[in-house]
Parts: sequence; C-alpha cells; structure tokens
Amino acid sequence: MMKSFRIGSLFGIPIKLDLTFLLVLPLFAYLIGAQIEPVVDILNTSMGAGIDVDALTTESWMPFLIGLIAAIGLFVGVVLHELGHSLTAQRYGFPIDSITLWLLGGIAALSEMPEDWRQELNIAIAGPIVSILVGVASYGLFLVTPESLDGARFVLGYLAVLNIVLAGFNMIPAFPMDGGRVLRALLARNTPYAKATQQAASVGKLFAILMGLFGLLQFNIIFIALAFFIYIAASSEAQQVTMKAAFQDVTVGDIMTPAKDLHTVGPETSVAALIQRMFTERHTGYPVIDRSGFEGERLVGLVTLSDAREIDPVERDAFTVEEVMTTDLKTISPESDAMTAIERMREHNIGRLLVVDDGDLIGLISRSDVMTAFDIVQKSGSVSPNRQPRTAD
Ligand SMILES: [Zn+2]
Repeated sequence: MMKSFRIGSLFGIPIKLDLTFLLVLPLFAYLIGAQIEPVVDILNTSMGAGIDVDALTTESWMPFLIGLIAAIGLFVGVVLHELGHSLTAQRYGFPIDSITLWLLGGIAALSEMPEDWRQELNIAIAGPIVSILVGVASYGLFLVTPESLDGARFVLGYLAVLNIVLAGFNMIPAFPMDGGRVLRALLARNTPYAKATQQAASVGKLFAILMGLFGLLQFNIIFIALAFFIYIAASSEAQQVTMKAAFQDVTVGDIMTPAKDLHTVGPETSVAALIQRMFTERHTGYPVIDRSGFEGERLVGLVTLSDAREIDPVERDAFTVEEVMTTDLKTISPESDAMTAIERMREHNIGRLLVVDDGDLIGLISRSDVMTAFDIVQKSGSVSPNRQPRTAD
C-alpha cells in the first residue's frame, strides 16, 4: 500500500503526500531546470514572452531553483484540481476522506461514488475546469508581471501551459482519468449504471492498449506504465460496479448456507477425524458446536483446513478440534447486504463468515457461496425469482 503523510488541510480536507511524490518533485525540478532554453523558445514564440534566457542562467544553480519553484507551482495546481472535485462532491453531501498527491498526480478519496449521472459529471469535470482556470490565472499574472522579472515570467508562463495540458490529459476518456468518469456519466443518462460502467471501461481499455502500443513503438516507458495502470483501473472499476449492481437487493440470508444444511463438528473431535471428514465431504470449514453444556447447542468456534494442517500428520490423533479452532469469530447478520459480506471477508482476509441472528448460528456464508450466487444473478437476473424487491429501509 501507499505510504503517505499529512502536510495540512484545506476546507477541512486533509492533504497528504505519498512517498512516491517526493521522488517526483526533485525529478521535475531537474527536468524543468534542464529544459529552460527550449521552454523559453516556446513561450517567446507562442506568447511573445520576450524572456531573456541568459538572465535565467547566469548562475549554474539558477535553472534548478526556477525548476523547483515551477514544480511546486505545478503541485499547487494539482491540489487545486483535486479540491475542485472534492468541494463539488461535498456540495452533494459526499464526504471526502483526504486528497493525496502521489507519483501520477492527485487522488481525492471519495468515501462513496455518486450513481446520479449529473452529480458524477459535475464532480468529474470540476477538476479539469479548475485546472483551466488556474492556467488562465497564471497567464493573467504573467501578463502583468514586469518584463524585468524574467524568472517570474518564465514560471508563470510555464504554469499557464502546464495547467492547460493537465486539464487536457485528465479528459482522456479512460478510468481512472476524469474523462473516464465524464464518459460514464454521459452514457448513464440513458443506460443502467452498471452497463454504462462496462462500456466506459471498454473504451478505457482500448485507450490503454493503444497507449501501450504507442509506448512500445516509441520505447517510452512512461506511456507503457500508464497504459498498464489505466487497463487495471478500468477492469477493477468495471468488476466492482458489476458486482454491486448484481447484489443490489441480495442479503446474506438469501445466499448463505442455512444452519440445517451445515456440517458441524464437536470440539472433542480429533484433528485426524476432522481431516478425514474434510476429504469425504469436500468441505474445508466447519463451525464447532458444543453439545455438552446445559443450554443445549452452543457455537464455540470455527475450524478450517489450514487450522488442521498446522498439526504435524503423525500427531493429528492426539490433538482435538478445540485445540486448533479459531475462537475469534467473525460474524454477520442475515439482513446485511451481500456486498458487505464480501468486503468484511476481504478486510479480515478470511474465506467465510458465520451468520448469527440474536446470538444463534443460523448459517454460514463463504466466498464460494458468494461467487456461485454472483454467477446465478448474472445468468438469471435474480437469486430467488419469486422475491419481492426490498423497499428502502
Ligand atoms: Zn481530476
């Protein structure tokens, strides 16, 4: 995962720097400093800047100081771009966790994504609009800066160009670029959200492939890396949204294995006998039920194949289930959404959750239950065809 630290906050939104960004900043400072001459040529011909290159390079350290200031200016532009997204999202009531700057720019972390196409469109387009405004403002400042201040005019002119390029680059119609979200929002006007996502993701993947091919032909490593990044982002966005749409009205109770169909073991069972059962029943996880107490059946743990495997084969007769089972039980209620179950399994890195209602074990939900249900929903459109859709609660 990314390692990042907080540098402050704006409008109550924490601004974080990722470590990869700290590598990029000096690199940008160096690259800008090393290209002062060609950039001055561009600015002088395109904006009639009249910048004197010699005045910027009288001392050997000057280009790099100018490069550093321009790089920091670019970084401020990226923060403003992300603030554009964040403040628009906040206006619609979506909380923003943070803005993080990393290798490829900025990320505004929305806790959830709007599914209303108008809101998504406005949130996505707000960033590039801010970048254009920052570019125009830089150009305005450039115009009013006295001609004698060659360094300031260079930085402002350069930032005017960079922010416009940033806006254009972000409008590439591919996830996770803003253009990808704009495209999805426009498609979602008259197509279901999940389908619009898949279409937008396909366009993004096509772009990624073209960009990768271009990178290969040009031997440009940045294009190749970016192409990979876009391809993966497009695929995962599409998969997540498809799953969410498929499981929209599906609860844990709908797809769990109910208690009456569950295979359970007693805590006194030997590990050897457990493994034997796992082989014959082709199950790899069993709730452990204690039937020796006064209050009848009591759930005391969960035992899986990997728990059992921790015991050396020759000692498996001597150990009981009670000694290897997990007692830190991860549970979920039958009314929870199927998506919540998937997220909880992912979060704890486990393959199954016990479904508990009022302290009673009423079922078990495993990754394979979820995947089977997902298959059925995709093929038939529903888990249980006779069920009425749930009303909002
Ligand atoms: Zn953006």
